[in-house]
Amino acid sequence: MADPTIEEHRKALAGAVGNDAVRWDAESLAAHRRDYWFLNVLRAQRGRLSNDALCIVSPTSVEQIQTALRYANQQRLPVVPFGAGSGVCGGVQPDARSIVIDMRRMDRIVELNETALTVRVQAGKMGNLFESELNTAGYSAGHFPQSIDVSTVGGWVSTRAAGQYSTRYGNIEDMLLAFEAVLPDGRVVRTRVGPRSATGPDLRHFFLGAEGTLGVLTEITLRIFPRPESMVAQAFSFATIHDGLEAIRLFMRAGWRPPVVRLYDGIETARLFTAVSKGDNCLMLLVSEGPEALTAAESSACAGICAVQGGESVGREPVDRWLSERNHVPHFDMFIERGIVLDTIEVATTWDRIHDLYREVIAALQQVPGIMVASGHSSHSYAQGTNIYFTFAARPEDPSKEESTYLECWKQAMEATLRCGGTIAHHHGVGRLRVPWMARELGTGAELLRQLKRVFDPNGIMNPGVLIPVDSGKSKG
Ligand SMILES: Cc1cc2nc3c(=O)[nH]c(=O)nc-3n(C[C@H](O)[C@H](O)[C@H](O)COP(=O)(O)OP(=O)(O)OC[C@H]3O[C@@H](n4cnc5c(N)ncnc54)[C@H](O)[C@@H]3O)c2cc1C
Repeated sequence: MADPTIEEHRKALAGAVGNDAVRWDAESLAAHRRDYWFLNVLRAQRGRLSNDALCIVSPTSVEQIQTALRYANQQRLPVVPFGAGSGVCGGVQPDARSIVIDMRRMDRIVELNETALTVRVQAGKMGNLFESELNTAGYSAGHFPQSIDVSTVGGWVSTRAAGQYSTRYGNIEDMLLAFEAVLPDGRVVRTRVGPRSATGPDLRHFFLGAEGTLGVLTEITLRIFPRPESMVAQAFSFATIHDGLEAIRLFMRAGWRPPVVRLYDGIETARLFTAVSKGDNCLMLLVSEGPEALTAAESSACAGICAVQGGESVGREPVDRWLSERNHVPHFDMFIERGIVLDTIEVATTWDRIHDLYREVIAALQQVPGIMVASGHSSHSYAQGTNIYFTFAARPEDPSKEESTYLECWKQAMEATLRCGGTIAHHHGVGRLRVPWMARELGTGAELLRQLKRVFDPNGIMNPGVLIPVDSGKSKG
């Protein structure tokens, strides 16, 4: 018997899942063609990204997701989970046979437990609405990705996201207490909520950063925090990035955890904070939050450490500016129109290697023909190390080289990071973009990850092409 046609699949799915939950009109398909990966924005702008999915499923219940996945699994159709499409690594890029599952109609806070300080929320809840509902009740999730207005809670877990206040409140893996997910064969897996558990390997970590390759997350239980009583903001200027990083290392080592710790190199200080930029000084922003006794002690101890490292206080105005503008990001389109390719690349390493990593990645980016800007800042710190969030912009002389120039910048940054012993992704995930370096990142673990994928998803229907390193043996053959 011949395989069902695209039209037959659409009708069968609508019949099984419900007519109001399955769409394939041109507008719906166009709205789910890609995430916010620069290369796909560029390709869409140039008319080179035309593939539409088979259909968009917008479920309101776990049962509808089970039905859709069982159908996809039987028919061997790819499934692409969709949060809000703000991912920046190509995690959403369906092909003509793909079923996209858009989670945004599953958007309720199911339970707020004020005694245990936990919240159960459906995975499609938009970040800004989630935080504002928590605020109304006197709480915060403590998770503030720059994309909070355009991303979902399920997307945060699926990409291992980090928020701007992570240095005190942690990243999403520190906040995730439990989850519910639908596996490709339609089974539902739920984990138990508790302060901790010693029951073997932790299933949460399979879904943290899985980027839709193992199943669909439907419900998330997160820690919450009472809203802070007080806040102290301060900023310091350092002669070099080395001095500023040393100050951060020392306050992390001493046990201080200001939620916001950001250190911009000279180029970014000059670009973003002209009022306090002089020569190539580096600006540090610090925010302390919590009970007054804690914020007073923390801010004064951190100021003392900064002074010892040569940091000069420049008041709180730069922090206030950053707080009011922190989620404004210029659209890619205005750069693309001028023939400029650009992106941000977040990597991390330990304190003993961070200076080399910063220097090597900047030097590697500067070698790329057409490079205009290579800069970086640290924004998420730990007792053991920190991240650097690099920004590059390049304009190739020959416009036909825009994709190759973009990919060369990524290659240079990834190779330099691996040479310096860093990890190739701090919080944006892997998507399609970082797959070529995953085998080197994971070593022997690459084959284990491939085997794990086969256990969850033996037919390989979940978001193919994303995250999982390609088996080099197979690709040679
Ligand atoms: C301007 C801007 C600023 C950003 N700032 C930050 C930042 O500060 N910190 C940060 O960490 N990231 C940031 N990002 C990246 C992005 O917002 C995050 O990766 C975010 O977590 C993605 O959420 P989403 O809901 O939009 O997911 P999508 O982009 O829709 O999906 C991301 C991946 O997760 C999968 N997925 C989504 N939902 C589910 C689900 N329910 N079940 C299973 N798989 C699922 C998708 O298949 C895809 O592979 C930024 C992006 C932009 C555009």
